[in-house]
Amino acid sequence: MQAKQKKYDIVIIGGGIGGIMAAYALGKTQKVLLIEKGLPLQKRKCPLVSKRTQKCLGCSPCSIMQGMGGAGAFSDGKYVISTEYGGWLTSFMQDELVLSYINKADQILIKHGASQERYLPDDELKLICLQHDLHMQQAELKHLGTDENFSTMLNLIDNLGSKCEILTNTPVVDIDKDKNIVHYTHDGQTFSVKGDNIIIAVGRAGSSFLVDWCKKNGIKMSNNQVDIGVRVELPYLVWQHFSRRIYEPKIWYRSEGYGDVTRMFCFNERGSVVIENTNGVLTVNGHAYKGEDKKTQNSNFALLTTTKFTQPFNEPIEYARYVASLANKISGGSVLVQRFGDLVKGRRSNEHRMKDCTTIPTLKAVPGDLSLCMPKRQLDNIIETLYALDKVAPGTANHDTLLYGIECKYYSARPETEDDFMLKGTKNIYAIGDGAGFTRSLSHAAAHGLYVADVILK
Ligand SMILES: Cc1cc2nc3c(=O)[nH]c(=O)nc-3n(C[C@H](O)[C@H](O)[C@H](O)COP(=O)(O)OP(=O)(O)OC[C@H]3O[C@@H](n4cnc5c(N)ncnc54)[C@H](O)[C@@H]3O)c2cc1C
Repeated sequence: MQAKQKKYDIVIIGGGIGGIMAAYALGKTQKVLLIEKGLPLQKRKCPLVSKRTQKCLGCSPCSIMQGMGGAGAFSDGKYVISTEYGGWLTSFMQDELVLSYINKADQILIKHGASQERYLPDDELKLICLQHDLHMQQAELKHLGTDENFSTMLNLIDNLGSKCEILTNTPVVDIDKDKNIVHYTHDGQTFSVKGDNIIIAVGRAGSSFLVDWCKKNGIKMSNNQVDIGVRVELPYLVWQHFSRRIYEPKIWYRSEGYGDVTRMFCFNERGSVVIENTNGVLTVNGHAYKGEDKKTQNSNFALLTTTKFTQPFNEPIEYARYVASLANKISGGSVLVQRFGDLVKGRRSNEHRMKDCTTIPTLKAVPGDLSLCMPKRQLDNIIETLYALDKVAPGTANHDTLLYGIECKYYSARPETEDDFMLKGTKNIYAIGDGAGFTRSLSHAAAHGLYVADVILK
C-alpha cells in the first residue's frame, strides 16, 4: 500500500442518502471525507434508461445503484414518515426517536427543494381491505417523484461540497479495523486515510463488501429473510381509487396455502418498470415521474413473498440471486415478462401473444414463463395474492396484467453492534443504512445517518 495518508475526524464510505445525511450533519463542525464508489450525480447515466441500449451492459460502476445520491437517486422519491415500515431501527431505538430523525431529514430535504405535501392515512380504505382479509399499512407519505427527488439530491450534494471533501469513482477496498485506516483506489492507485470515526454506509450494492470485511475481522453477521416476487403492471385506472387518496397502497396478505406473507408495495402511479443490476444480476423495479409529460398509462407495484429460512441454510441473498439469475438465463441475459392469464393457463407469453396484450409494457423485457424460474411456493403465493387484491381493486387479476420477474428485496446481513451502531470489537467504526440491514427505505436510511452523526458529535 502506498503511504499517502491524511487524517480526518470522520470518513464516510458511501454517498447514498444515509452517508449524505451523516456528512451534512457532521460537516458543519468536523473534518469529513466522503468516499463514493460511483460517479458524481450529474454524470450518472444508465444506457438502458436513456434507451441507448436494449440490454443491461453491466456497467461498473452501475449508474442506477451506485454513485452520489445512492440507490435512491433515480427512485420515485417516496418518503415514508412513519415507523410502521421502512426499516428495523425501532429494534434499537424508541419509535418516537426514530420518527423525530425522519422528520429532521425531511426538513433538510425541504430546505433543498423537496415539496412539503404529505398523504395521510385513510381508515376507510383500510376497512375495505380488512373486509377481504387484506392488511393495509398506514403511514404519512411524501411523493417527490423521480424529477423532484433528483433535483433535491443535486442541491443537497452541491451544498455538501462546501462542508466536506467528496471523492467519487473511488471504491473503498479495505478498512484496517485496529488502526481505523481506510484503503481506497482511485485511477488505478491505492491510497489510505485515517478516520477517528468511520461510517460504513455502502447500501445494498456494497453489502457483499461489508459481509466479506466483517467475516475477515471476526464480526458476526445475521440474516435469514428474503423477499422474492414480481413487478406487477396494469392500467392506472385499476388502483386509482387508492392512489388518489393515499398515493401508495401497501397491503399484505397471508396465503391460505402456506401461511406466508406476500406484500404489495413500492407502488408507482402512471410510472415505468425498470431493470436494476445488482452485482451482475438483473432484477426489476419501478419508478414514476411527477411531471405530467412523463406519466404513462400504467401503474406498477412490487408483489413479493417473504421467505424466512431456518437452520442449516443461512444464505438468503444468494438464494434470491440464484432465482433471479435463472430468469436472466431463460431470457437470454435480460428479465422476463408474462401476462397473468398466460401464467395461470400454464403457457409462456411470447412475442405473438404480447401483440394482443391490452396493457402496453413500459419495459422491453423478454416474454417468457415465470414458472420456469420461480419456486412453486413463491409463485403460488403471488397468484393467490393477486386474486385477493382483485377483490379490492377489480381488474388486478385480469388476463393482461403484466408480471415482470424477478424482483427481489435482499436485506443485507446485519453486523453485530455495540450500543448506538458501533461495530462490535471496533473503536468508532459504525455501520448504517440498507447495506448493514438496519433500513430499507430512503427516510429510514436518512434518519439513521443523522442519528449516528449525533452519536459521534456527542
Ligand atoms: C430503483 C429503486 C427505487 C427505489 N425507490 C424508493 C422509494 O421510492 N422510497 C424509498 O423509501 N426507498 C426506495 N428505494 C430504496 C432506497 O433507495 C434505499 O433504501 C436507500 O437508498 C438506502 O440508502 P443507503 O444510504 O443506505 O444506501 P445507498 O443509497 O444504496 O447508497 C450506498 C452508496 O454506497 C456506495 N458504495 C458501495 N460500496 C462502496 C465501496 N466499497 N466504496 C465506496 N462506496 C461504496 C454505493 O455506490 C452507493 O452509492 C429504491 C431503490 C431502488 C434501487
